[in-house]
Amino acid sequence: MPGPERPQSYYDEIKAKFRQERDLRLDCRPPGTQQYTSEFTGDLAKYAVDPFAGGAPAREPIDDEVEVLFIGGGFSALLTSARLREKGIESIRIVEKGADVGGTWYWNRYPGVACDVVSYDYLPLLDEMDYVPVNHYSRGPEILAHCQAIANKYDLYDLAVFNTTVTETRWHEADRRWHVTTDRGDTMRAQFVICANGTLAKPKLSEINGMTSFAGHSFHTSRWDYDYTGQDLENLKDKVVGIIGTGASAVQIVPELAKTAKHLYVFQRTPSSIDIRDDWPTDPNWARKLEPGWQAKRRAKVLAAVENSLEKRAAKGAISREDKLRRQENANIDYMMRIHRRIDEIVDDPETAEALKPWYMFMCKRPCFHNEYLPAFNQPNVTLVDTHGKGITEINEKGPVFEGQEYELDLLIYATGFEVQLTGIYNNIIGRDGQNLSDKYADGIRTLLGIHTAGYPNLFVMGGYQASFQFNLTEMLQTQGDHIAACIDYVRQHGYETIDPTDEAEEWWVQEVINHRGKTSRSEDCTPGYYNFEGGENRRQDGNYNGGFRRYYEHQGEVREAMEKHFRLEVRAS
Ligand code: NDP
Repeated sequence: MPGPERPQSYYDEIKAKFRQERDLRLDCRPPGTQQYTSEFTGDLAKYAVDPFAGGAPAREPIDDEVEVLFIGGGFSALLTSARLREKGIESIRIVEKGADVGGTWYWNRYPGVACDVVSYDYLPLLDEMDYVPVNHYSRGPEILAHCQAIANKYDLYDLAVFNTTVTETRWHEADRRWHVTTDRGDTMRAQFVICANGTLAKPKLSEINGMTSFAGHSFHTSRWDYDYTGQDLENLKDKVVGIIGTGASAVQIVPELAKTAKHLYVFQRTPSSIDIRDDWPTDPNWARKLEPGWQAKRRAKVLAAVENSLEKRAAKGAISREDKLRRQENANIDYMMRIHRRIDEIVDDPETAEALKPWYMFMCKRPCFHNEYLPAFNQPNVTLVDTHGKGITEINEKGPVFEGQEYELDLLIYATGFEVQLTGIYNNIIGRDGQNLSDKYADGIRTLLGIHTAGYPNLFVMGGYQASFQFNLTEMLQTQGDHIAACIDYVRQHGYETIDPTDEAEEWWVQEVINHRGKTSRSEDCTPGYYNFEGGENRRQDGNYNGGFRRYYEHQGEVREAMEKHFRLEVRAS
């Protein structure tokens, strides 16, 4: 039902409040991403320790050669490997920091962990695996088990190396191989290297004065310490717990902590938008009727839906750009005000309800969906500590301090997120002319499709900048995996040894990325968060390709149709 017609002044006032809330946050925090650290050394080293590995087993350094080597063993590696196997590639190695495959789903095992993208779309390779997820939204353990099942089906454990971090990836022109060295003393050679190390892989901590003086227990959400909390959080019954951060991870964790903790303090800087999560067990009758290829058909529909919306947009072409933008903004504000009303309906204490209201446009921050998060604040053992955009800036040996009040805690959990999309530059990647990839990118990222970069033959990057962004990330990754497998197959089928994008192809793509940026001022107008580089400056090409997922997918196809134009393809030197 359409709501009541509102005057434009109503929307303008809300937009003014959005700006005010954004400026408040920009003014009172260190600029951009500098407020965070992901370098966990010295006193912070404990935040990086893998609680799930059970101690890395000793092994001899490896000195061998494989055809394809993945850096990272999450969904990117798994879904691409499946395609490579289909094309007959036998020698595939995953090198992974964790003790198993799974990536995000290996690390994030916090209580309540689930995916709020519909499982039938999110879990890759459902047709190939002949698997139908248990629920409309999958829980973390089911997703991790799916990752392991893929690795088993495609024999990826055979050559996989775990508990191992790649330290350098260097191209050797003499043997035309990548030489990959690791923190375990390995030197592995590979014809093709695929950087599959994730978009949100490295945990980050807000750098807070005095944080290392805290005498209680503490950890990051992606390193959950079940030894301390107990598997069902039963050890928290007599513990006072605090959680810093209210993003998508915290939204799933808070309801679980609220069930058992003696007391829970939620330290909030900016609230998330929380909508309903309609979950249900998969209907067995529906599942039984699914025909082979059902997931591929669903994916094709997603692309068709994007196409429809383009058509609709064209039909609306008669209205001016300003009008179109205003309508979009007003609809967005209507949605956010519905989110506000829902908070008022659920949260009993008016002051708490007010503090939980997000004042920014929908999609400025990653939207959240949960039915138990807001009700948790009605429990007597849960207190929201709203920091009015300032965040926690001081911690002493007892716990966080805000506006002179000390919050004495037994356990402090950092739900402060992850370093974003630095894919491919975590280790030293040194290309053809001895150039470090970070140096090449120093004046701006340069890629073809966000996947290839000139001077780094046979190297492919997944989930990095200059690729399209999809809320369902696996959908985007699958297109990249299919593309990479097709490129490698082309090289093999045509007797080539190396594939390297031409400078012209790379320049074309950089310009495509630049041309599709800055279409609206949305990103700058947004409250700071990782979607807009924490409100900091960034070079025009250092972001996602914003021309739309469908166009991105089409461009991949166009590139593959003219391989000889877009790439320098070389045969083995005799
Ligand atoms: P986020 O980066 O989304 O959230 C970090 C939180 O920490 C923010 O609320 C931030 O506040 C807050 N924060 C940082 N410093 C301070 C401070 N000093 N005091 C108080 N608060 C502070 O990390 P998450 O781990 O929650 O989520 C990361 C991403 O992982 C999500 O965006 C999503 O893409 C993915 N995810 C997906 C899920 C799914 O269902 N598919 C589930 C969980 C995560 P502020 O907003 O002000 O910066």
